[in-house]
Amino acid sequence: MEYLPNIVFALALIAGIGFFARNVKKLSRNIKLGKDVDVSDNRPQRWRNMARIALGQTKMVVRPVAGLLHIIVYVGFIIINIEVLEIILDGLLGTHRLFAPLGTAYNFLIGSFEVLALLVIVAVILFWIRRNIIRLQRFIKPEMKGWPKTDGNMILYIELVLMTLFLTMNAADFQLQQLGAEHYVKAGAFPVSQFIVPLLEGLSESSLILVERTAWWLHIIGILAFLNYLYYSKHLHILLAFPNTFYGKTRPQGQFNNLESVTNEVKLMMNPDADPFAAPAEETSTEPEKFGASDVMDLNWVQLLNAYTCTECGRCTSECPANQTGKKLSPRKIMMDTRDRLEEVGKNMDANKGEFVPDGKQLLGDYISHEEIWACTTCNACVQACPVSIDPLSIIVEMRRYLVMEQSAAPMELNNMMSNIENNGAPWPYNQMDRLNWVNE
Ligand code: SF4
Ligand code: SF4
Repeated sequence: MEYLPNIVFALALIAGIGFFARNVKKLSRNIKLGKDVDVSDNRPQRWRNMARIALGQTKMVVRPVAGLLHIIVYVGFIIINIEVLEIILDGLLGTHRLFAPLGTAYNFLIGSFEVLALLVIVAVILFWIRRNIIRLQRFIKPEMKGWPKTDGNMILYIELVLMTLFLTMNAADFQLQQLGAEHYVKAGAFPVSQFIVPLLEGLSESSLILVERTAWWLHIIGILAFLNYLYYSKHLHILLAFPNTFYGKTRPQGQFNNLESVTNEVKLMMNPDADPFAAPAEETSTEPEKFGASDVMDLNWVQLLNAYTCTECGRCTSECPANQTGKKLSPRKIMMDTRDRLEEVGKNMDANKGEFVPDGKQLLGDYISHEEIWACTTCNACVQACPVSIDPLSIIVEMRRYLVMEQSAAPMELNNMMSNIENNGAPWPYNQMDRLNWVNE
């Protein structure tokens, strides 16, 4: 019986970490459904991007208020969770405040965690007010109805509860230390939780232990539950922002990737020495199975990683000129739809022994409409605005490629322009012979 709490704790830990590992495996399998892409270039630049954008949060502070609040929550949450290490060891070994022998350093750490916890609580409340009372435009767009709204609020509630439990646990511990309770070594500094202590005045030692133990258990169970909630939430970005910024685009933003087979064909057309009737060379005759993308499996794995990393912050949508002028396009929705479809494909595979069974659906058409795709001006404002290096434009371009090259389903204006280029060598509907007529006018 003496070791029962340790055993229960070990089982909870194994279950929490095991379930998380299972979800990570699924996540990795889903991302690998994407096509391969070469991201081995520019390694130093990639490391710098990750350090600057994911760790340094440099793109967040472009909007100073939200940026500062986000940094507080991010730093606070990460640093406070260092304490989780002590909690886990205490839980497994049956000790209490295992790191207390660190003395002054320990007091400083616990004191700093408390100040950060308070700042996180303040930031989370302000975030909640922005979402639910002020109702910032980017949080009330159509794609944010239902689960995305609930998810955004849920994360705030969980963080609030975890920080409150942490401070309550410390307050009860502090009081027990004052009472000289057995097992409760005098350690730690409590600059914030000391103000909660008056609420616990008058409680007996056993009641205080009950409060402290309940807060302790709920805190660690809450962290394990939150860890597993990540997979189902936009909060997954706290983990994926790092690989995503590393594998993000390092070429100039306006530079598109060319389809190799098309490039080879154009080069052949432009080469005056080429024999148009010659059989194609072996290496240039391999055409891709499909031009562009109509479903998630046609995208590359970095684009799928992008979809899982999206924080649904809406900075891209608020900068998008198409969205600003009332068009149906929202780059955030492009990313959310890609993730939803990828999840659907993943569940299909889970239900069919790891094989995808065609379900008659695809990303283009069932999730993202042609109207959205063609509303894009390809301005790159969304890519520039994204705080975690996501590239919604690349997905839009791949879908356009599919519509043009596989379906011949471009809007009429574009089809006219493309036939003019094909027939007249220019986008205008005039014969090449008439090009210089303007000279005589
Ligand atoms: S590239 Fe397209 S989706 Fe992105 S901001 Fe510009 S118009 Fe909007
Ligand atoms: S793509 Fe980037 S900017 Fe747009 S909602 Fe997602 S994280 Fe925010």
